Amino acid sequence: MRREAAYEPVIGLEVHAQLLTRTKLFCRCPARYGAEPNTLVCPVCLGLPGALPAVNGEAVAMAVRLGTALGCRIAPASVFARKNYFYPDCPRNYQITMYDAPLCEGGALEYDAPEGPRLVELERIHLEDDAGKLLHRPAARSLVDFNRCGVPLVEIVTRPVLGDPSDAALFLQNLRRLLRWLGICDGNLEEGSMRCDVNVSLRTPGSRRLGTRTEIKNLNSFKAVEAGIRLEIARQRKVLEGGGEIERQTSLWNARRRELVVMRSKEEARDYRYFPEPDLPPLEVRAELVERERSRLPELPLARERRLRAEYGLPAYDAGVLCAERGIADYFERAVRAGAEPKEGANWVMREVLASLRERGGRIEEFAVSPDDLARLVRLVSDGAISRTAGTEVFREMLRTGEEPGAVVGRLGLELLADPRRLEMMVDAVIAANPGEAARFRGGKRQLLEFFVGQVMKESGGTADPRLARDLIERRLAPGGGER
Ligand code: ADP
Ligand code: MG
Ligand code: ZN
Repeated sequence: MRREAAYEPVIGLEVHAQLLTRTKLFCRCPARYGAEPNTLVCPVCLGLPGALPAVNGEAVAMAVRLGTALGCRIAPASVFARKNYFYPDCPRNYQITMYDAPLCEGGALEYDAPEGPRLVELERIHLEDDAGKLLHRPAARSLVDFNRCGVPLVEIVTRPVLGDPSDAALFLQNLRRLLRWLGICDGNLEEGSMRCDVNVSLRTPGSRRLGTRTEIKNLNSFKAVEAGIRLEIARQRKVLEGGGEIERQTSLWNARRRELVVMRSKEEARDYRYFPEPDLPPLEVRAELVERERSRLPELPLARERRLRAEYGLPAYDAGVLCAERGIADYFERAVRAGAEPKEGANWVMREVLASLRERGGRIEEFAVSPDDLARLVRLVSDGAISRTAGTEVFREMLRTGEEPGAVVGRLGLELLADPRRLEMMVDAVIAANPGEAARFRGGKRQLLEFFVGQVMKESGGTADPRLARDLIERRLAPGGGER
């Protein structure tokens, strides 16, 4: 009999996502990444005495958009709060965030996991401003860049409902997809435009009481999230099995050494002395704004993924790849509407389009081959006008020159070679050039058929009709088939 696991993990996530607004949350400084340090600052985001914040409406609209997409209750009035702390990344000595009256409450993110549909409930989503960035140089002074001070963030907090490290990573991938889909965050974990803090505890299975949790910060990739949680679960399990107790603590993931380093323990727990921000009135969100954002929501990624499966009969894998980004799904569906058979179209997008995007970089919206031209190419192949091999060559030419597929086929003479006489001559030439292989084929080594087909394809510059070529080779090499 299998013994019940002595402890089961309970995980809750706090995700910070930088909003893609033009300006910062409380001032007009550009919210841009990668500028010369300390060039995007003003008295407000530097926290100079007397400078007053004013809320950026674009940030509020984006947060509301996210809240409606996740089915949250949007508060008609929420309250900004000061979270006081002293650290060089925060010149004001407090962060403006939301505490007991957040912008969004409840809601859930739904997605398809390998085991089936999954619904992860949320506690809240609120708006807050980002801190500056410290640059610690070994054996030198530390530097600080205030450009990031005041950049708008949404913090998305899940309920403690995630069950294991891979569950947490899958949730994050789906959340990231939604953020990008809605155009409100670019979701770059390495550059820190999306950051994730993890809370972990253990409890005996079936128990409803949660154990004491610890926190992990600095997880800068999905792999790090999984690995960090796994390490923390193992550590807690060891403590509990040894009869010990878990203490509240916060550790940092060290990416280089792939380990957790304790940053602060219970004794050093901070008291942030939250209080309502006196320089800002309550944030009022009118029903019209909520309705406007809700009515403008695009078809959401999960719904689209499921529709692509149902409407075009695509495998779940294909639908998942095509819905990784809204632009990819749009591209695919444009090609289908322009006449590409859906499964063939999906194959071309996944193999050729995405591969060359990965290779060359750039956005699919500006991809050199239009969905219409891709559809034309797919049809040339499925109608048998050119071979699949020739198709890939045509695609590469289209990428290079921007021509439409018909023009490339004509220019390079790639029309399918299906004239039996001409093909026969090629087959004979290939057999004559490979007498050893021919003898072994006749001796029973049937696998060599593919070798001969490959040689004929090569000889014909990829234009030979492969089925016809295969037939001819088999006939020529059959006992008594005899070469001329
Ligand atoms: P704080 O803001 O102080 O970190 P919150 O109450 O906002 O605290 O919770 C933060 C996160 O911790 C949430 O995602 C929540 O789901 C998670 N969490 C709370 N209690 C536990 C627990 N016992 N085990 C695991 N996660 C927990
Ligand atoms: Mg926390
Ligand atoms: Zn500013």
